[in-house]
Amino acid sequence: MGRPDPQLRDAILAHLRKNHASLCRHWFDDIEPLEINDGTLKLLVRETVQLRYLRRCCIEQFQDAAQAVTNRLLAVRFVGESDLAEEQEARRSEAATGHASGEMSKRAGPVLPDPASVPLHEDMLLSPDYSFENFIVGPGNRLAHAAAIAVASKPGKAYNPFFIHAGVGLGKTHLLQSICQTALRSNPSMNLYYISCNGFMTQFLEAVQAGQMSDFRHRFRNVDMLVIDDIHDLSRRDRTQEEFFHTFNCLYQAGRQLVLSSDAPPNEIPDLEERLISRFNCGLVAHIDKPCFETRVEIVKSKAALRSIQLPEDVASYVAAKIDTNIRELEGAIIKIQSLSVVNGMSIDLELAKAAIGEQVASGGSQHPTIQQIIDAISSFYDVKLTDLLSRRRHKSIALPRQVGMWLARKHTRYSLEEIGGYFGGRDHTTVMHAIKAINNKRQADRTLDQDVSRLEGKLLEHFPIPVDVATAE
Ligand code: ADP
Ligand code: MG
Repeated sequence: MGRPDPQLRDAILAHLRKNHASLCRHWFDDIEPLEINDGTLKLLVRETVQLRYLRRCCIEQFQDAAQAVTNRLLAVRFVGESDLAEEQEARRSEAATGHASGEMSKRAGPVLPDPASVPLHEDMLLSPDYSFENFIVGPGNRLAHAAAIAVASKPGKAYNPFFIHAGVGLGKTHLLQSICQTALRSNPSMNLYYISCNGFMTQFLEAVQAGQMSDFRHRFRNVDMLVIDDIHDLSRRDRTQEEFFHTFNCLYQAGRQLVLSSDAPPNEIPDLEERLISRFNCGLVAHIDKPCFETRVEIVKSKAALRSIQLPEDVASYVAAKIDTNIRELEGAIIKIQSLSVVNGMSIDLELAKAAIGEQVASGGSQHPTIQQIIDAISSFYDVKLTDLLSRRRHKSIALPRQVGMWLARKHTRYSLEEIGGYFGGRDHTTVMHAIKAINNKRQADRTLDQDVSRLEGKLLEHFPIPVDVATAE
C-alpha cells in the first residue's frame, strides 16, 4: 500500500486539462488521492452526486491521466467516505478474527450505507453541474427558481405538482436536477427518482412485454419524489398516459412530491388527456423566459468559472451578445473558445473568441452585414463598451450610439424590429421604432451626426456592396 505523492492530484488535473479540457470542472480540485494499492489508484470524492457522476462518466479519462503521469498501468477507483468506513471496518474485523472474508467482515459491525449506491436508482444520473449554486437567476426564471428551491426544501408541501415549462435549452433540466440534488443533500435516504419521460415510457413498455408490471408499479409508486423531465413526450402515447395518470394519483394522494418539465404549458401539449392536463395544472405551473443580455453574461461567466476558464469581461459580453436564445449554445461557444485556446496554447482574448465562434452565428450570409458586425462597428466608432451598449443604461453617450446601431440594423439587415430589439439588450420593438424615428429626425437637424452615420455605413458596407432594400421604415 502506498500514499501517493501529494503532487499527484495536480499532475493528473493538469493532464486532464490539457487532454480532456471539456471534461474538467473546478470541483475536481476537491478530489483526494488516497493510496495506490494493487495497481489501483484510489480517489476520494465526498459529494455523492459527484461520486456517481465520476464513476459513470470519467473513469477512462482519469485512468488515462493517472497512467500518463505515473508511467504505470494503473486502474482508478473513485470511493466515497462510506466506502472508506466500510473498508476500515473490514480490515479491523479481519485483524481481530484473522479471516480475510469480506462478507464476514461486512457483517461484523455497524456500517454506514453507501450513499452512492443506496437508495438512488441505478439508471439515475445527475450532473453535479446542475445545482442551484450554478443556476443564474434573472427576470426570466426568477419565479421558477424560487419555487424550485421551495419544492426542494419542503417536498410534497410547497407546490405539488410543480410544473416547469420553457423552450429548448432554457434551464428546465438544470432546475429539475438542482431540486434533486438539494433534496438528496438534506435527506440522503430519500427515495427520489429522476427520469426522462422517454425513460419512463421505455420502462413501462419493457415491463408490459416482460409481464413485470407489478415491479414497475412498485418502482414508481413508492418513491418520495418523482421528477420527470420532458413530460410533453407523453403526447399521443395513450397507454403510457393511462399508466402515468395512475402513478401520478397514487403519489399525489400519498403526499409525495411530483416535479415535471415540459416544452409547453399543460393545456398546449398536443393530444394530452384532459384529466392529465387538469392534474398538471393543480399545483404550480412556472414558465422560464429567455434570459436577457445581463443574465446571459452572468451565465457565460459562471459556466467558464465552472470549467476553471479565465474569461475576460469583453469575451463574456461578446459571447452573450452573439448567442441570444439557447443557453446550451452559449456553453458550446465557451467550449469552442477553450478548445481553440488549448490547441494553440494561447490565452483567451476577444480575437481568439471571434476566431472560435465568429462564423458560428454570423447571419445574413455575405449579402449584408450581421447585427454583430454593426454592434462591433458602433462600439469601436463611438468607443463605448459592448456591455454598456446592450445594457439598460440611458446616458446620452450610450443611448445615441445604441440608437444609431438599431437604425443601421434596420436598414442593412433583414431582421425584424423585435429581433433587433433582442440583439440590443432585449428591448421591445417599440423602442427600436422610436430609435429609428429619432435618428431620422436627428440626421436632418444635426450635420455631424448625419456624417457620422454615413461614415459608419460606408465602413460597414465596404465588404457588402448590396444594401438591403428595407428603407428606414418606421
Ligand atoms: P432545457 O432542459 O430547458 O432544454 P437545460 O436545463 O439542459 O435546458 O439547460 C441547457 C444548458 O443551459 C445547461 O448547460 C444549463 O446548465 C444551462 N442553463 C440554463 N439556464 C441556466 C441558468 N439560469 N444559469 C446557468 N446555466 C443555465
Ligand atoms: Mg432538458
